[in-house]
Amino acid sequence: MSSWLPALRRLGVPTSTEPAVLAEHGTDAWMAAVTPEAVTFPRTAAEVSQVLRFAHRRGIPVTARGAGKGYVGGCVPQHKGIVVSLMRMNRIREIHSGDFVAVVEPGVITSKLQAAVEKKGLFYPPDPASRDTCSLGGNVATNAGGPRCLKYGVTRNYVLGLEVALADGTLVRCGGRTHKNKTGFDLVGLFTGSEGVLGIATELTLKLLPLPPARVTVSATFARADQAAAAVRAVLGAGFLPCSLEVADAFTLESARRHLGSKVVPAGNAHLLVELDGQAESVRSELKSVAALIRKVGALSLRTADTPEASEELWSLRRNFSPALKVHGLTKLNEDIVVPRGKLVDLFRFAGRMQKEYGVPVACFGHAGDGNIHVNLMCDLTRKGERARMDRALDLLFRQVLAWGGAITGEHGIGLAKKRWWNDAVPPATRDLHTTIKHALDPKGILNPGKFV
Ligand SMILES: Cc1cc2nc3c(=O)[nH]c(=O)nc-3n(C[C@H](O)[C@H](O)[C@H](O)COP(=O)(O)OP(=O)(O)OC[C@H]3O[C@@H](n4cnc5c(N)ncnc54)[C@H](O)[C@@H]3O)c2cc1C
Repeated sequence: MSSWLPALRRLGVPTSTEPAVLAEHGTDAWMAAVTPEAVTFPRTAAEVSQVLRFAHRRGIPVTARGAGKGYVGGCVPQHKGIVVSLMRMNRIREIHSGDFVAVVEPGVITSKLQAAVEKKGLFYPPDPASRDTCSLGGNVATNAGGPRCLKYGVTRNYVLGLEVALADGTLVRCGGRTHKNKTGFDLVGLFTGSEGVLGIATELTLKLLPLPPARVTVSATFARADQAAAAVRAVLGAGFLPCSLEVADAFTLESARRHLGSKVVPAGNAHLLVELDGQAESVRSELKSVAALIRKVGALSLRTADTPEASEELWSLRRNFSPALKVHGLTKLNEDIVVPRGKLVDLFRFAGRMQKEYGVPVACFGHAGDGNIHVNLMCDLTRKGERARMDRALDLLFRQVLAWGGAITGEHGIGLAKKRWWNDAVPPATRDLHTTIKHALDPKGILNPGKFV
């Protein structure tokens, strides 16, 4: 037992050292696991601040944790110490219809806020696929994205203000509740996406939009991936800005066919899903034009939906792509790379070559509209040397993505999973700048140590 545990308990912040609780708070949705020495469950910003002041004085590592649904080991307490779970700070404090603002604690589950604001005719667009289980604090710390980000932008575009507990426990407020604010540095931007290494967010002020009353959807398959890419170009080229443009490759479709049956998954080697939202009359008319454009490119199958129920049906196929990959009985390494939009077909071809030349099954699907494609390497981690083989495959993938001017992560962050490629992805002077900022805010290096900075 660590010598500081009795003193930590005396703070009065709910704390656990139960082995099952420690184990549960040592992992996320990636594969790393490190057991912390204690988990605290603060209920207020003042309690977060108290724990940090305590840890700072003694130089104890502290790792912030939301819902633990991250994909890169970001909340894994690599240097043990204290995990600060924000999940008891889960109140929606305010939804203001006049100001189009919500104020929440960091442990609120994303879809809970979305449902609450939609009841008032308001809209919080960022839609990570994990939204039913992940926290808004985690979304802010990873700058989470999702399909709707093509039109609406990522989490950063919705964070107006933050309260943050710094490494020494000082509580600072940045930004505010206005939709524009140019007072001082963009500190909200600095903390958003900082993966818990600069501070712990204790209150979030989020921007809301009017809820679009209607959405319509088109689902199409093509014989070839380049036709799907041509359809994306045709839709955007004609001046449409869909809220989502989702694409999937032949490997994904074949897995879905095995998982759901060939009646549910139409024939073809590439799939495209387009969603438009807005006023009912205008989106219905846009639906016709977009469907015509897609047909012209040579779709093998095409279905349209102009009611929420019918749209949901088309989305359910897209949502099943990830679970369908389970038919292979392998572990999925989900790499959320981003390529310039014009490189979509090159990426699919490259994935095909990885499959043939290195024997790694690869499934690609994701957000074609912003080039953020999830490249899923299917691996058998029970096989000897598999981890090293995957790292070599990822070396190739990331080298190619960077050579195209892309990025190694568009949504999930660096965490532990992508630490190996941090030096390749970021120039030395920019890495030094990250280090300078980290030292300025956390001179003892207690916040989420062992990660990329
Ligand atoms: C099935 C599935 C689908 C997913 N789909 C998407 C997707 O579509 N888009 C996407 O972007 N991501 C997706 N993810 C990844 C993940 O859900 C997101 O990264 C999410 O934002 C993590 O939130 P969390 O609450 O689980 O954070 P955690 O995993 O608990 O933590 C993530 C990081 O944030 C830090 N952190 C957490 N809370 C705070 C806080 N209050 N203050 C400071 N730092 C904090 C942690 O230290 C860690 O570095 C998916 C994950 C799964 C399992």
